[in-house]
Amino acid sequence: MKDKEVKVLKDQRDRRKRVQRIRTGIITVISVWMVLSIVLTALMCVKIVSLQKQIDILSGRYDDSGDVKNQVTGSSGEDKGVLIQTTDDKDNLAKEGDVHQVYLTFDDGPSEQTNEILDILDDYGVKATFFVNGRQDETSIAAYKRIVDEGHTIAMHSYSHKYSEIYESVDAFQKDFERIQNLIYDTTGVECTYYRFPGGSSNRVSNANMLDYINYLNGQGVTYFDWNVSSGDATSQAFTVDELVENVMKDVVKYKTSVVLLHDANNKTTTVQALPTMIESLQESGAIILPIDENTQVIQHTSIQK
Ligand code: ZN
Repeated sequence: MKDKEVKVLKDQRDRRKRVQRIRTGIITVISVWMVLSIVLTALMCVKIVSLQKQIDILSGRYDDSGDVKNQVTGSSGEDKGVLIQTTDDKDNLAKEGDVHQVYLTFDDGPSEQTNEILDILDDYGVKATFFVNGRQDETSIAAYKRIVDEGHTIAMHSYSHKYSEIYESVDAFQKDFERIQNLIYDTTGVECTYYRFPGGSSNRVSNANMLDYINYLNGQGVTYFDWNVSSGDATSQAFTVDELVENVMKDVVKYKTSVVLLHDANNKTTTVQALPTMIESLQESGAIILPIDENTQVIQHTSIQK
């Protein structure tokens, strides 16, 4: 009888131990699963952020930031010439008494801001240059026409503005180029001969050999313009109205010819707000504001040395 009781007690102990082991096992599995889930979620968040950034780059949101400086110059090796860095052209440095010629250039339009930009330019009797992308909606078509009708220079900034498409090959570049040139011609009657590369001629985002595209444009008799003064309105830094004006004014004094990078885009409201003060400051400083034409000193980050 005693033995039986002992056995029952032992069985009960064993069962409790088994239950305890199973419970510990389940808790361990759940804990590991929870930790793994947290780690995986964190890793996925990091990945999503990095993918979003790549999408932004490919769609050109980081375009034309004005941060591109001192591009390593490349050599074509053949008779095409040599790419040279021309950002800080010594001949363009202003001396005491020089008149500053300033070209305000707006990239990425037409946008919801275009009409307001045109209104402001009109208020001050100032002409500018619009490096436009291809859009076929009624408002955009009207904007192309208004730009031309009011005496501004209309210029190309690619049709799609998508790096991945434009810089895929010279063929792809040519197709995109013809689309924007034809659209401008069909809507305004202007045979456009000015171009600004998305990201500029020294862009490092595209991983493309810019020499090929520069050669193509040269062959088309098209002049590409970069910029030597950046308002900073496309950088990740959110500049205030005063800072945008200051960014422009501090550089304009350095050069005889300044090509100022600005943006005509839906989210660039600060640029529009800064425009009146920018124009007033430039005019007060004695600078002349002009639209790009055939007499404009060409400003290029990289060019082909003949
Ligand atoms: Zn752009």
